[in-house]
Amino acid sequence: MISELSGKLFIGGGWKTGAGAGIAVLNPATGESIGEIAASTADEINEAVAAARAAFRGWADLPAKARSAALHRLGDAIAADADGMARIMTMEQGKPLNEARGEILKLAEACHFYAEEAVRVHGEIVPGDTTDHHSLVIREPIGVVGAITPWNYPAELVGWKLCASLAAGCTIVIKPADLTPFTALAIARKVEEAKIPAGVVNVITGPGSVVGQALVEHPGVDKIAFTGSSSVGLRIQQSATTVKRMSLELGGNCPMIVTESADLDAAVKGAVRRSFRNMGQICIAINRVYVARPIYEAFLAKVKVAAEALTIGNGLDKPDADLGAMASADPLAKTKEHLADALAKGARLVTGGAAPEGEQFARGHFFRPTVVADCTHAMKVMSEETFGPLLGVAPYDGLDEAIARANDTPYGLASYVYAKDMDEVRYLTTRLDYGNVAVNNVDAGVMNAPYGGRKQSGVGYEHGREGMLEYFNFKHIRIRHDEPKGR
Ligand code: NAD
Repeated sequence: MISELSGKLFIGGGWKTGAGAGIAVLNPATGESIGEIAASTADEINEAVAAARAAFRGWADLPAKARSAALHRLGDAIAADADGMARIMTMEQGKPLNEARGEILKLAEACHFYAEEAVRVHGEIVPGDTTDHHSLVIREPIGVVGAITPWNYPAELVGWKLCASLAAGCTIVIKPADLTPFTALAIARKVEEAKIPAGVVNVITGPGSVVGQALVEHPGVDKIAFTGSSSVGLRIQQSATTVKRMSLELGGNCPMIVTESADLDAAVKGAVRRSFRNMGQICIAINRVYVARPIYEAFLAKVKVAAEALTIGNGLDKPDADLGAMASADPLAKTKEHLADALAKGARLVTGGAAPEGEQFARGHFFRPTVVADCTHAMKVMSEETFGPLLGVAPYDGLDEAIARANDTPYGLASYVYAKDMDEVRYLTTRLDYGNVAVNNVDAGVMNAPYGGRKQSGVGYEHGREGMLEYFNFKHIRIRHDEPKGR
């Protein structure tokens, strides 16, 4: 399947071989080339935007029920090929096959969720200042969306933008990450199968600084929906050459607070899951944990056991492994840098700290889940996004200290609390300056509630009804009524 997608672009409902230079895509578990993508040329970018523009009016004017049905068909087509699509994702991203399959099924769920939202786009009638006027407030699709996505969740992060856009009546040009383009191209295949009209969905590929940037600057793109790093998000915000709507889902450095009243085993399970899943390459990964001092050593002892129990493998050969390869050399290098920095500044190594041993790990980007204790905010692991399997832990004395440290960051994406005492829960959740706070669980993002960051973690929302609002303009229609003639 990858060979059929290699070098291809999906524009105006058709497949073409990109004219630009080829960029190799590697399997991060083995280092082998699995195919290549084309660096889209300026003409191809223009063609994709023009195709989306041409398709816009027809798509927006369809009855909502028709758009809803198309999204249901897309969800069904994706779910029916979950195994095939998961294989593609594992080969380009490195996560174990079962995890990849789970992500594909969540993409299908997003299609069905927004299919249902598509038919619930309501307006409002607002009373006027005088009885001879009233105001209609209606929602209209923004137009052409440029979606730019990262490599850590190659299906879901495309899917949330795609499904909310299409449900709202927008058309879309998608530019996936260079590391993981084939999942997005495989989604385009499903768009074809679902008989979504030509031009409504387009996928182009190539380097972000050229192809992504061209979408940002393109006068024919009405909105940028971006997920990626805070530095690129800021650049995008600063570099648009025409005014356009933007949603920016950016990086994090997410804290967890474990109070003395917590169920310790549950907290450990949550910390290990949300720190190491997908090798820590999750924007909402727990980077740092603050534990009440009386339970600090007990927490560390249990976290060590839980981290060491995680299995690592090549995601294709060991589909049920807990962890696969990291997606490329860069996040692995950053993880090692943050670890060296913490150890140099006095952190205690609790577990991990090196690649797993064995011939099967020799050529891929593997690293053992790593925990460091006695961390301070001078260490990068406590203040910057690691985006790798490294967890920093520190003790705290008093909830106010834990809150102050948790909020002492430019980021505001997700935070986590483990506590059984409801007074503690209320105190912490109202003071944590984050877009998402998960209490006694670590699933900060679920499909039916808004998900988004604040501060340097971004603007705007995905998921839920709020995620779809990002793709609408409001229009105010103010109507004056005269007395009817011949009353
Ligand atoms: P990145 O910012 O390097 O790249 C993201 C996308 O932007 C890629 O498609 C890339 O090609 C493109 N790009 C790069 N430069 C560009 C430019 N000048 N103009 C337009 N597009 C450009 O991020 P990454 O390394 O792919 O992903 C990891 C980052 O994504 C982490 O910081 C992570 O926290 C963040 N992330 C955030 C969320 C969220 O929902 N908040 C979710 C997942 C990942």
